[in-house]
Amino acid sequence: MTIAFNYPPMKNFTPHSGYVGRFAPSPSGHLHFGSLVTALGSFLRAKNSGGQWLLRIEDIDPPREMVGASDSIMRCLENHHLFWDGEVVFQSGRSELYNEKIQYLAEQGFTFYCQCTRAQLAHLEPGQTCGCANQNLSPENKAIRFNHHFIHQYFYDELLGHVEFPKQSIPPQFTIKRKDALFAYQLAVVVDDIQQGITEVARGADLVAATLLQLALYQAFKSPAPKFLHFPVVVTEPGKKLSKQNHACELDPNKVGTNLINALRFLGLPVTKELQRESVANIMNWAISEWDLNKIPAKTECIDNRIGQADSI
Ligand SMILES: [Zn+2]
Repeated sequence: MTIAFNYPPMKNFTPHSGYVGRFAPSPSGHLHFGSLVTALGSFLRAKNSGGQWLLRIEDIDPPREMVGASDSIMRCLENHHLFWDGEVVFQSGRSELYNEKIQYLAEQGFTFYCQCTRAQLAHLEPGQTCGCANQNLSPENKAIRFNHHFIHQYFYDELLGHVEFPKQSIPPQFTIKRKDALFAYQLAVVVDDIQQGITEVARGADLVAATLLQLALYQAFKSPAPKFLHFPVVVTEPGKKLSKQNHACELDPNKVGTNLINALRFLGLPVTKELQRESVANIMNWAISEWDLNKIPAKTECIDNRIGQADSI
């Protein structure tokens, strides 16, 4: 096996291709093996394309955050030689931008104030809307919800191909700003992906269904949507994603090479015993050149947990 020894210092790397990807963790806990797979997959996809890989910390939900998690995530990425391009973007510093974009959506007739409780929304039948849109409610202590003008039922995924959901499974309205004034994930992620010029969103398959809501926002903003690519998620049992919420272990900083090898194997790269003895830099250099979407095993599970989260107010 030939291993090149010219691993570039990515932090000052100036890309020449038009590809811009990103990794966007929420600081609700340390990085675990499942998030390493997503980070590594999106990094390799970007670097194999000669593109940029940006880091965005999605810290817009303080009650769900863990003190010190943002620093821990960045340190962990660097330990694993997942060096991002440019400055880290923190969503917590972008409230003005999000409010401007909500104002734009309101002016275009896409929003309404909603006074429903979480329980009331949960009791709506699939496809049913709450009555708030017709009541012209005042803004105080209300959530702001988005009304689709057109429901997207399908999209093309770079890994999964044609992805389609039944129309009745897609909420006709969803929250973009909560009653407690926190911005919803769907709104912030689309605003940032547009503003940062992301050309392809490469992330875990737990967000497949959320893509359809996000496409509605791209259309409302009159912005072309990026490409989408959803990696297999690591599960602890069928339908149950390995996550911070189900106590996934923090990655061991003393086993960086092993962590990477295991993640590369999960992503279908032909890892050998020789590679396991190489330095982290050499493992990454090899992985960038060997990266191949076609090698990713077909073990994707779609765990649609983000649509439900987005509708919490
Ligand atoms: Zn309502």
